[in-house]
Amino acid sequence: MKSSDIAPSVIAPSGRPKMLTAMGRGLLRRCPNCGRGHLYKGSGLKRFIRIIDHCAVCHEQLGHIRADDIPAYFTVFIAGHFMLSGLLSVANRQYPEWAQLTVAIPLAVLLIYVLLPSIKGAVAARLWALGMATGVLESEKALAPD
Ligand SMILES: [Zn+2]
Repeated sequence: MKSSDIAPSVIAPSGRPKMLTAMGRGLLRRCPNCGRGHLYKGSGLKRFIRIIDHCAVCHEQLGHIRADDIPAYFTVFIAGHFMLSGLLSVANRQYPEWAQLTVAIPLAVLLIYVLLPSIKGAVAARLWALGMATGVLESEKALAPD
C-alpha cells in the first residue's frame, strides 16, 4: 500500500499517519501505518501480544518495536481501578469472600486479556509514530558514535 492510498486527513506532512490516527489503529490491534493489516501474530493465549515482523498489507516493518513494560503498567492501572471500584461497591454487603473471589479473579483475568493487546497496540503505534521503535530516536541513531 502506498501512502497515497490513505486518506489525506490522517497523514502528517512526513508521509506517515498522524499520531492519534496511528494510536487509534494500534488500539484496534491494526497496523499503525495502513490500519488494515493485523498487528499481532496468530491468536490464542501464547501469542496474543506478539507483534508481527511486518504488515501483510503495506509491508511496514513492525517486529522491531519494543514497548517493554509500559503496556502492562497501563493495563494493571486501568484494570486495577475497575476491580477496586467493584470490590469496594460490594464490600459492605454480606457476600462470602469465596464468592467475591470467584467473581473477581476471572473478571481480572478477562479484563487483562481484553485490555493488554489493545493498550500494547496503542503504545507500539505511538513508538512507531515517534520513530522510537527500539527505545532510541531514529534521529539520535544517526548522531550516536559507533
Ligand atoms: Zn500496514
